Amino acid sequence: MKKNLRKIFAAEREPAKTTLKTRMVSSYYGEDTFSFKVMKSKLPSDVFKKLKKIINEGEKLDLDTANAIAHAMKEWSIEKGATHYCHWFQPLTGTTAEKHDSFADPVDVGESIERFSGKQLMQGEPDASSFPSGGLRATFEARGYTAWDLTSPAFVIRNGNCVTLCIPTAFISYTGEVLDSKTPLLRSVKALDTSSRRLLKILGKNVKKIIATLGPEQEYFLIDKDYYYKRQDLVLANRTLIGAAPSKGQQLEDQYFGPIKDRVISFMADVEEELFRLGVPAKTRHNEVAPSQFEIAPVFEEANIAVDHNHLVMETLRRTAREHNLAALLHEKPFAEVNGSGKHLNWSLSDDEGNNLLNPGNTPSQNVQFLLFLTAVIRAIYMHADLLRSTVAFAGNDHRLGANEAPPAILSIFLGDQLFKIVSDIEKGVITSETDKEFLDFGVSTLPLLLKDNTDRNRTSPFAFTGNKFEFRAVGSSQSISWPATVLNLIIAESIDFVAEALEKKGGDVKKTAFEVIRDVIKDSKKVLFNENGYTQEWEEEATRRGLPNHKTTPEALKVLASDKSKKLFAKYEILSEVEVVSRYNIFVERYIKEMEIEALTLYGMVLNNIIPAGLEYQGRIAKSIESTEKVLGSSDCIKIQKELLKKICTLISSLSKSADELIALKDKAHSSHDEPAIAEFYCKDVKAKMVEIRGYSDDLEKIVDDQMWPLPKYWEMLFIS
Ligand code: ADP
Ligand code: MG
Repeated sequence: MKKNLRKIFAAEREPAKTTLKTRMVSSYYGEDTFSFKVMKSKLPSDVFKKLKKIINEGEKLDLDTANAIAHAMKEWSIEKGATHYCHWFQPLTGTTAEKHDSFADPVDVGESIERFSGKQLMQGEPDASSFPSGGLRATFEARGYTAWDLTSPAFVIRNGNCVTLCIPTAFISYTGEVLDSKTPLLRSVKALDTSSRRLLKILGKNVKKIIATLGPEQEYFLIDKDYYYKRQDLVLANRTLIGAAPSKGQQLEDQYFGPIKDRVISFMADVEEELFRLGVPAKTRHNEVAPSQFEIAPVFEEANIAVDHNHLVMETLRRTAREHNLAALLHEKPFAEVNGSGKHLNWSLSDDEGNNLLNPGNTPSQNVQFLLFLTAVIRAIYMHADLLRSTVAFAGNDHRLGANEAPPAILSIFLGDQLFKIVSDIEKGVITSETDKEFLDFGVSTLPLLLKDNTDRNRTSPFAFTGNKFEFRAVGSSQSISWPATVLNLIIAESIDFVAEALEKKGGDVKKTAFEVIRDVIKDSKKVLFNENGYTQEWEEEATRRGLPNHKTTPEALKVLASDKSKKLFAKYEILSEVEVVSRYNIFVERYIKEMEIEALTLYGMVLNNIIPAGLEYQGRIAKSIESTEKVLGSSDCIKIQKELLKKICTLISSLSKSADELIALKDKAHSSHDEPAIAEFYCKDVKAKMVEIRGYSDDLEKIVDDQMWPLPKYWEMLFIS
């Protein structure tokens, strides 16, 4: 009998040897990032002052300043061991991209010096032809430009035997179209700043700058690397396409916040050390609900930096896992039957002094500033629920949204009882500016006393107010938070403008008119407020009655992006031109099709090359055994039963074979059309259904076939052995 290697490998694995972490984090925090602190010590003081001014006041960077900074950056990174630099950017692949250039510059035959100029720092010219452009750019105009984003610090990455200086950049085409996810984010932050300051000005406040803050809670799975490489589906499609559910999943609820295993915590500590060096404020770590599922959450940061840092978190998780002979799975649903992974995106607004505008204070009902911003958010989600939903629409997230573990695809807002009552009372006219003449507290400095406890109870809501911020819970674990954050900023900026305009129109004493405006807006948008359990069938029905959109699949959810309403909104706030919006829609549809095609082909390959051969081997063995037993016993009843088993296996193998061929036929049929949205829908309905059917046969077979013959690591092994 064959030795079953797949179990022994992982179970006998020694934990990776890492040294005890005794160094104080503060002693090395940020040492791999070219922070303000480093710049201050490395740059001539006039250059440093100039740079700060450029960043804070958005002035143009001149070549002399750039040269001085480039020189300091080069010296600093070479001290860290860097040999190369790269412009680090975020094309529309959903991940980051980098093209490395050596500092070494030959000056003569056999002679070179290290060089890095201001021009090289400011601008790069990667070939853009192989990045998604959604029809924006023809290959003959392949040039793209990367431009230094001064607002996110450069850093060095250590991987393999290399240290590389990475410079965060934006990426645009030769003709000026936006090809990345950073540029629209930066623009949305600016839009939000403008509209927020406008509203604050009406309230008599002059604030220098308003920023969006983001805190993404990153979930992920860890499994042994050997299991990972033994499964084509995990390697190629990032999720298991087949695999029978184990007898134990998460039903005992013993994993969430449970003690962290040695091997896992050693991994986490190494991840954190690397992140701390990069200045990423990793704060919280814990076991999540599903077996082998974990979470890492940072302290929130300014939106642009939080996005860059979340990319670094995802990359560091993957890289460090490999070093520990583990694989980090960031897919939204790597395993059926247990919880998937999301990325709760905490969002708020802050002024330049760090005051949180969504802090209700001790008397939220009287905090007009808070109530106005809150009202703007409520309106934004109500008006643009479908657009926001589209930002989390992709193949992986379709397994999550609405699957009773994650929020439903209906975007509603949970406010908590206390706030909900305040908002309802204002709408009914119970609370007005007359309620208490003294209160009108425009300040936002004190922490809420009651609210914090009252609001964080409902985990079923996709958009929940949690004390002093909103938590957008529909974001997927593998996706960049940039696009959801961009759209959040955009729709809220628009709503803040709406509220500001309403106040301006009314004129008079803003303390009085504010309540009228809040009342009117809440009247119009209150349908989006929902405090109860979002997982129930009743809510779906109720939401339909309320007319709230419920887009369950990616092809359906994406459509709204290309609508006139959405194109106009992006264009009005100069986030993206109408053409650029359409290009994004094309890219998202195209990516959905490609990911579905990869899944279909991978499943087909596994069924033919792994599953059917294993099934046939077992079938042959049983047939032989029956044959020889029959010779001894003749046709007895027990032989009859064994023949039934044989028949069952035989039927499953035939069904697998037949449905695998049908899958390929369906896939081909999908591509006979040239209409991409139609192809996407066909995949979503027909191809997906066939894949589910195949999985059913395969999982049934897995439950019967001799364990020693089963060619793939099973769920119980992957989820429980590490
Ligand atoms: P929970 O799991 O209970 O939701 P966590 O502590 O895991 O809470 O995560 C909360 C996240 O919200 C953290 O990343 C935190 O930094 C972030 N956060 C807190 N305040 C704000 C804010 N004002 N703006 C944005 N994010 C915030
Ligand atoms: Mg958390």
